[in-house]
Amino acid sequence: MALTGLLQRLNSMGYKNWIKAGHCLLLLKGSLQEFVVSEMKTFHRELRSKIPAALQNSSCQCKATGKTFHPGCPVCAEWKRLILNHHTNRNGEIHWGNCNPSLWPTNYWEVAKAYMPRGHADKRGPELCDASAILNLINACDRFRRFDNSKVRAVLSSDWFVEDCDHYETDGLPSREETTSLSVYEVEKQLIQQLLEETYFQIEDKNTWTQQDNDTLQAIKKFLSDNEDLHSDFKADLVRFESLYSHLTFAEGCSL
Ligand SMILES: [Zn+2]
Repeated sequence: MALTGLLQRLNSMGYKNWIKAGHCLLLLKGSLQEFVVSEMKTFHRELRSKIPAALQNSSCQCKATGKTFHPGCPVCAEWKRLILNHHTNRNGEIHWGNCNPSLWPTNYWEVAKAYMPRGHADKRGPELCDASAILNLINACDRFRRFDNSKVRAVLSSDWFVEDCDHYETDGLPSREETTSLSVYEVEKQLIQQLLEETYFQIEDKNTWTQQDNDTLQAIKKFLSDNEDLHSDFKADLVRFESLYSHLTFAEGCSL
């Protein structure tokens, strides 16, 4: 059933190209992950060594929300200062809500998430973050300035378009053995999940529900209802969207 649905969807060249581009990003993330983990662990140790010893045993119950964080203890105040010192966008938006500040002294990934877009509060390790988050981290943390990251900036600013390549396998997609241990179906599910999360957070950030959001949600619902093999996997996401709609909708004439 799942395979039949997937093969039907891959009849669309646009859809197949989207899967290919997304698959490339997954491969890129796999290649970068080990490097990023190693660098961020070293970075974390260096920052931790700068925290005055007198503060090491302070108790902390600080919480960060959204783009604001007002430290409630001297340790978090120091960590915030250090994190900002190394932020390439320190005067712009920083999603402190990604982090659990009380874990900064002991968990390097909670520090890394201060350099990522919103929506990563529950991503407790690099393996749970997508390529976009890893690329944002490399671009936003000056730890990586000593490497040439011009290619990273190019990826972040580019519009993805993948030509149909005849030199691929006959179905136009790299084979499972050539690329990763993920099947095309698993890749597809990951990409849809990422797309739904990004769309959800974009609407939540605006804090308003527009006709365009309505059209987007209708398109998502139609896609999932036309593809029964995917519908059950993303049922919870649809419920989440409808809950957000109920919360935000004030405009007349918008109905699901
Ligand atoms: Zn604190």
